[in-house]
Amino acid sequence: MSIHFGLSEEQQSLRELAHDFSKNVIRPAAEHHDQTGEYPWEVLSKAHETGLLNTHIPAEYGGMELGAVDGLLIAEELAWGCTGIGTAIEANGLAQQPVIIGASDFLKRKYLAPMTEKVSMCAYAVTEPGAGSDVQGLKTTAVLQGDKWILNGQKMWITNAGVADWYFVVALTDPAKKARGGMTAFIVEKGWDGVIVGKKEKNMGQRASDTRAITFENVEVPAENVVGKIGDGWNLAMAAFDYTRPGVAAAAVGLARAAMEHAIQYSSERKTFGVPIANHQAIAFMIADMAMNIDAGRLLCWNAGYLKDQGQRNTLQSSYAKAFCADMAVKVATDAVQIFGGYGYSSEYPVEKLMRDSKIFQIYEGTSQIQRLIISRELMMRNK
Ligand SMILES: Cc1cc2nc3c(=O)[nH]c(=O)nc-3n(C[C@H](O)[C@H](O)[C@H](O)COP(=O)(O)OP(=O)(O)OC[C@H]3O[C@@H](n4cnc5c(N)ncnc54)[C@H](O)[C@@H]3O)c2cc1C
Repeated sequence: MSIHFGLSEEQQSLRELAHDFSKNVIRPAAEHHDQTGEYPWEVLSKAHETGLLNTHIPAEYGGMELGAVDGLLIAEELAWGCTGIGTAIEANGLAQQPVIIGASDFLKRKYLAPMTEKVSMCAYAVTEPGAGSDVQGLKTTAVLQGDKWILNGQKMWITNAGVADWYFVVALTDPAKKARGGMTAFIVEKGWDGVIVGKKEKNMGQRASDTRAITFENVEVPAENVVGKIGDGWNLAMAAFDYTRPGVAAAAVGLARAAMEHAIQYSSERKTFGVPIANHQAIAFMIADMAMNIDAGRLLCWNAGYLKDQGQRNTLQSSYAKAFCADMAVKVATDAVQIFGGYGYSSEYPVEKLMRDSKIFQIYEGTSQIQRLIISRELMMRNK
C-alpha cells in the first residue's frame, strides 16, 4: 500500500497555468471590481479562452472533464488572485454539477455544450428568502399543466443571477413529500416570461460576484427541462455539494495564502522598537499558525477531492474541508489585518479586502454550523 501527495505533471502545469492567470489577469483587475461591483466579464472571457472556466463539463459535450483534485488546484489559485472573481467562475460549476450528474442527454447538449464554445454564465437557484440552511422549507412550486410546469416563487442570494443565461432551480412538485420525492429540479432560462431578476445586492465582500433575488411568476417550463426524474430535486441539489464544497474550501485556502504572504512581507518591512515586527515572537507565531492551518486545510480539500475522483462517497470529508477552511480563512485574514495594525484597517492596503472577502466562506454552500451538523450526523450514522 502506498500513499503520496504529489501532483502529476499535468496537474503541476494546470496549477501553474491558473497561478499565472491569477497573477497576470485577476489580480490587476481585482481592486476595480471590488470598488465598482462591475461584473468581471473581461476576466471571465480570458478565463474561458485559457481553459479555466467550466472545467468539469464532460468531454462528450465538448468539455475538459477535469477531475475533482484538478478543480481544487485551479480554485485555490484563482482565489489567491481574488475570491470575488473566483466565485463568479466557480458558481458556473455549482449550477452545472447537478446537470452533469442527472440531466438528460438533450439538456446537456442544449445547456452545457454551448458553454464550452463561448463565455456564458449559469446559476444555482435553490435558496429562498425563508429557506437557506433549511432547504427543505423552500416554497417555490411547480405545477404540471399539460406538457408544461408552471413555476411560482422566489429565490434569494443567487450568485450570477443577473448575468446567467439559465438557472438550475429546485421547486416543490409534491409539497406533502418535501425532500422525500416532493422536490423537482428544472433548468429555467433567464429570458422566459415571468422570470424577474432583482437588483444586485451590496455585499460586504466578494463584490465582483453578482448576487440577486429571482422571482418566478407563472413561468412556463417545458416538461423536457426537468433535470433527472420528477422528485429528484433534493438529491441532485445536495449531490452537487460533494463536488463543489471541496472547491469552495480550496478557494478559502487560496485567500488565506494570499493574506499570509502579505503578512510575511509586511512584517519583515515594518519596524517597531528597532526591529522588524516579524522578530517579535507574538507576530512570528501568528504567521506560523497561519502556515500550519493553510497546509492542514489544503490536505483536507485534497482528501475530499481524491475520494470523489476514486468514486467514493466524500460527504463527510467535504464538510470537514468546508468548515475547517472557511473558519481558517476568516481567522488568517483577520490576523493579517492585525499584523498590519492601523494600515490593515485601511482599504489602501490589501488585507482589508481579504478580511471582508473571507466572511462569506462561513455562509454560502452551507454555513459553518450546517457543516458541523452534517459531520456529526455522518458520524452518528456510521456508529449505528
Ligand atoms: C453572497 C452569497 C452568495 C450565495 N450564493 C448562493 C447561490 O448561488 N445559490 C443558492 O442557492 N444560495 C446561495 N446563497 C445562499 C446561502 O447558501 C445561504 O445564505 C446559507 O445557506 C444560509 O442560509 P440563510 O441565509 O437563510 O441563513 P439561515 O439558514 O437563516 O441561518 C441563520 C443562522 O442560523 C444558523 N443555523 C441555521 N440552522 C441551524 C441549525 N440547524 N443548527 C445550527 N445553526 C443553524 C446558520 O448557521 C446561520 O448562522 C448565497 C448567499 C450569499 C450571502
